[in-house]
Amino acid sequence: MRYVSTRGRAPVLTFDDVLLAGLAEDGGLYVPSHWPTFTPDDIRDMRGLSYQELAVQVMGPFVAGALTDDELTQVVEDAYASFTHPAIAPLRQLGPDDWVMELFHGPTLAFKDYALQVVGGLFDLILARRGERVTVVGATSGDTGSAAIAALRDRAAVDVVILLPKGRVSEVQRRQMTTVESPNVHVVAVDGTFDDCQALVKSLFADVAFRDEVGLGAVNSINWARVMAQTVYYFWAALRLGAPDRTLGFAVPTGNFGNVLAGWVARQMGLPIERLVVGSNRNDILARFLETGTMSRRPVEQSYSPSMDIQVSSNFERLLFEIVDRDAPEVERMLRQFAATGSYKVAEPLHQELLGLFRGYRLDDPGTEQAIADLYAATGEILDPHSAIGVMAGRVAGHRDLGTPMVALATAHPAKFPEVVERATGVRPALPPRLADLMTRPERLTDLPNDVEAVKALVRQRIAGGRA
Ligand SMILES: *Cc1c(COP(=O)(O)O)cnc(C)c1O
Repeated sequence: MRYVSTRGRAPVLTFDDVLLAGLAEDGGLYVPSHWPTFTPDDIRDMRGLSYQELAVQVMGPFVAGALTDDELTQVVEDAYASFTHPAIAPLRQLGPDDWVMELFHGPTLAFKDYALQVVGGLFDLILARRGERVTVVGATSGDTGSAAIAALRDRAAVDVVILLPKGRVSEVQRRQMTTVESPNVHVVAVDGTFDDCQALVKSLFADVAFRDEVGLGAVNSINWARVMAQTVYYFWAALRLGAPDRTLGFAVPTGNFGNVLAGWVARQMGLPIERLVVGSNRNDILARFLETGTMSRRPVEQSYSPSMDIQVSSNFERLLFEIVDRDAPEVERMLRQFAATGSYKVAEPLHQELLGLFRGYRLDDPGTEQAIADLYAATGEILDPHSAIGVMAGRVAGHRDLGTPMVALATAHPAKFPEVVERATGVRPALPPRLADLMTRPERLTDLPNDVEAVKALVRQRIAGGRA
């Protein structure tokens, strides 16, 4: 499989180059040169496979030429070995045609583990083959940092440096990063905001000499391999609910559009998905876009679902590329306009075409707290704020006019957001046993000023230490 950039001016790459490159040189995102498809019979043959066997089947076409079947099988086995539910992604039924898929049984209790554990294994394999090392640097406001650390800790060819805004990350989230004892993990508290942390990471990447010196790499949500690994659980759920002989819909709590894009990819590959509902909190750029056809940015506001506090959904660019029939110059034009003016509009026929599959839904903080309370009272299910938005999105923008099963993706364990969950339900959700001592483990954290030279110095010093 070959990969092309959504902006059309970057080299065509193989899977392993795309894995390590992250963003394309022309600022675009890599997508497969064509979408592999499965026939209904192929999909029927997938019934009865374990999650891991299914993952090998679904991801196989995307890594063809870069990994052997045995290598892919090994990566997948290792990736899911530490998950605590035997089904990996279990489905729970809340009502007739009303389902939740729990994507929080990985090491850091959020759905990001499902892809990042695979990406960690792929990095190890491909870097070892090439005799290279990378230093993965990322900024986090919560879930991504801990999932990246859990995926990359103790990997021989990788150092991981995570910048977090000092005092602005929840205690559970901070401790999930700072209590990891691996020598290749470096957590830095920056005296600043999340945006400051992101700006620091951008400046590191912009310094070409530094980038080459330390072999900078990224595992952020635009990495194609993450989207690829997320398509698997759409197949998993659909097979349990009768695909390919029955259609279904999904409701997805959305930030960067990576998760719901994976649902779109699964549909391209042949799954009979009739609807994808994009759930948002008050940062509702996508809901407004689906209503009007105009993408228009507003300032980010904090909410109870911080992993969706995003106003620019980077992965949307991949869908945009498809709806304009892979016209890369047109994508480039729209995104330039967005960067310059904060908005762009898609032609009305394309907007209508999107509405054939997608719906938007938004829920503010009081609504989210109420939803957690109502869902607990009606079903006994305790949901985190992100997942509660997903369930409500499925009910309001799916069930009412669609007579098929709707699956809402539960993207985080409720114990990651204990305060709001306890206020809504009266129950304080307990951390699972493997994290039970999280609040008493020793922490390792380096404080730094909001200064790029200080960050560079720390990276150089830590890498030298680790490689000596
Ligand atoms: C990252 C995250 C999301 C948003 O996912 P995207 O792929 O960025 O749309 C939703 N919920 C939780 C809990 C997350 O960690």
